[in-house]
Amino acid sequence: MCAGERVNSSMQIDPIKSPLVVTTFERVGNGESKQLVRNEMAALGLVGSTGRPLSPSRFDEMILNPLYRGRIVRPDWDIDVAGDFAPMVSEEAWNRANVIRKRRTKKSQGHDNTEFPLRKTVCCSSCGYRLTGSTSKGRKDYYSYYTCWNPSCKAVSVRSETLESLYEGLLASLSVSQPILDLFEASMLSAWKERQRTAARMREEILKKLLTAEQRLVVLTDRYLDQKIDEALFNEQHLRLKNEITILRELSSPASMEEQTLLEAIQQCREIFTDLGSTWNRLESQQQSRFVASLHPEGLITDGTSLRTTETPWFTRVMTTSEEDEHRLAVPTGFEPVSSP
Ligand SMILES: [Zn+2]
Repeated sequence: MCAGERVNSSMQIDPIKSPLVVTTFERVGNGESKQLVRNEMAALGLVGSTGRPLSPSRFDEMILNPLYRGRIVRPDWDIDVAGDFAPMVSEEAWNRANVIRKRRTKKSQGHDNTEFPLRKTVCCSSCGYRLTGSTSKGRKDYYSYYTCWNPSCKAVSVRSETLESLYEGLLASLSVSQPILDLFEASMLSAWKERQRTAARMREEILKKLLTAEQRLVVLTDRYLDQKIDEALFNEQHLRLKNEITILRELSSPASMEEQTLLEAIQQCREIFTDLGSTWNRLESQQQSRFVASLHPEGLITDGTSLRTTETPWFTRVMTTSEEDEHRLAVPTGFEPVSSP
């Protein structure tokens, strides 16, 4: 027991560890990466009896343990009663953490291929073939594995929980820092403003042409009514001008993105890329497959004990280019070097 010792059917609350347990349940319930929470809580003192950080499976057992919500549960004896001790976490916090946990576990125990979100994106380090997902029945439970798809290799066979936990760790290392996102945002806004200026100039030109075409149409009609041109010529010119006016009107209508929409998109981007692990944990497994595929179209490589990217991910490249290449970075207003008058 890591945060409460059971003594004669009662729980002794450890004053140091119990706030850490409460925070752990809250953060897992918010969908934060289990690996991240486990490591940070270990650094703060949530450790096992040996003083070492809890293992991933021990951490899972802690989240699953009904004692923390004040219940004593023994499904095999059909027992589910309130303990004679105060619950450490609320029923709601416990449920939230376990709903998220169940969703993660479900995807690795299912029989459906869609529940192996890393399949197809992660490759075997020995032969380069993609991994596939498989489930096998153990003595008590189903166990799911990612295995090398190549029948003549089969070098990799890794428990899905293990590989998915390695992936969470990788995501934590790939998350983009706030300063880089600040630069990215400034560069996006600046590029957008430049495009707005160009679009405004073009629109002005189009409106001028539109006005001219409309005036010509009036003159043409006058001349026809004054019988200065015949009907055939009038029809021909009328059609030509009408077509021109239709096209110019379409071109003149502003179709660009509102600044607010752009800012919202950038904000979403921030939320996703500063904490990729949480984003991943909040997704359903089908969305997770798409998330992995779109973040790593070039694939990932595993030997069963580690997981790595094959090249710098596109989003790291996109967001750090502005930092490395000063010529391509549009300097945000207010940061230009000030020349003395
Ligand atoms: Zn292989």
